[in-house]
Amino acid sequence: MQTEVLIVGGGLSGLALADHLTRQGKDFLLVEAQDRLGGRIMTKESADGRFDLGPAWFWPGQPRIAALARRFNIQVFEQFSTGDLLFQDQSGAVHRGRGYASMQGSLRLAGGMGSLIEAFSNVLDPARVMIRTRFTAVACSRDGITATLDQGGMALTVSAGQIVLAVPPRVIADTVRFDPALNAAQLQSLKDMPTWMAGQAKILAVYDTPHWRNAGLSGDAMSHRGPMAEIHDASPMAGGPYALFGFVGVPAGARAAHKEEVMQMALAQLIAMFGPEMAKPRDLMLQDWAAVLEIARPQDQKPVGYHPNYGLPQALRPLAEHGVHFGSTETAEVFGGFLEGALEAAEFLSERLKSAIDAKV
Ligand SMILES: Cc1cc2nc3c(=O)[nH]c(=O)nc-3n(C[C@H](O)[C@H](O)[C@H](O)COP(=O)(O)OP(=O)(O)OC[C@H]3O[C@@H](n4cnc5c(N)ncnc54)[C@H](O)[C@@H]3O)c2cc1C
Repeated sequence: MQTEVLIVGGGLSGLALADHLTRQGKDFLLVEAQDRLGGRIMTKESADGRFDLGPAWFWPGQPRIAALARRFNIQVFEQFSTGDLLFQDQSGAVHRGRGYASMQGSLRLAGGMGSLIEAFSNVLDPARVMIRTRFTAVACSRDGITATLDQGGMALTVSAGQIVLAVPPRVIADTVRFDPALNAAQLQSLKDMPTWMAGQAKILAVYDTPHWRNAGLSGDAMSHRGPMAEIHDASPMAGGPYALFGFVGVPAGARAAHKEEVMQMALAQLIAMFGPEMAKPRDLMLQDWAAVLEIARPQDQKPVGYHPNYGLPQALRPLAEHGVHFGSTETAEVFGGFLEGALEAAEFLSERLKSAIDAKV
């Protein structure tokens, strides 16, 4: 197989880049290791509603994602925040009206963030997008780039003019063979970039009735007892079904070993905090991102407690001269880590690739 640009990774950054190249009339092939597109974006359907188990918000001042919502006709709405906050202390006692509404003013998309992935899937040529196709190695020579792919145990090679690794940097460091090999500084700089939010897990509880709203609560809550440390309303834009989600504070190893117990404890926590009506959710689910090896590596198991300073490290920049580019959100200079950063990285690379391809013609 042959292509001008091989894009590795079908998350938001890879898909957005594929869209830029489509609009520029450039040749590309996108490969995704998992059996679905979206990467860290995951919107699940339950009880006729759609719920985000990955990212849920963007923020005012992030122009690219707002523009995409407009282009694809996806409605934007504000995080529900009407009503009192709750705070649960270490002893389990619940205090009404304490804490702060950390996500007030945050913006959500009707139909969830998965609406963006579906919209991209609809505008991209399906013949150029291959899921269940894992990129494993890249060799650079004077003749160009040869990439090795694994499709269900079958090895394929692709010759490409340029390759974009729209994959979390630590995944690249751990799983990709480079020929010539990366030097120590390049390898270390990949390992030093935590995959944003990859160590997190979300629990979502779906209800026919918004019991918390009916009780004058916003659904926003903090807990020092757990297992959910931070809880928010996750209901669709209008109408039901309604939902709360919480970030799980239990360490990754323990929650992987005791998934059912953690979910039952989370349900007990919702009852203790929001009342006995919470006892019978329509659905209860846990999405553990730390267990997804295409996104989280062992170093990501412990979530970072600060927002890292992202951007493409100096050591990796010379690889662009050989046609090797890095494009996940972690490489974005301004909005690194966020959805907006994935779009920023794609926009930057689309310009860089356009110049490289046009220079060849
Ligand atoms: C729980 C959670 C909550 C979050 N909340 C927010 C939020 O509210 N707002 C916000 O702005 N951001 C949030 N984020 C971050 C946001 O999800 C990311 O910024 C964004 O989705 C990253 O997109 P990406 O395309 O750069 O990477 P990814 O989505 O990680 O995509 C990378 C893709 O590469 C694929 N891949 C990996 N290895 C290979 C290989 N060898 N071959 C082929 N394919 C491969 C993976 O399967 C994956 O599909 C959150 C993330 C999580 C996990």
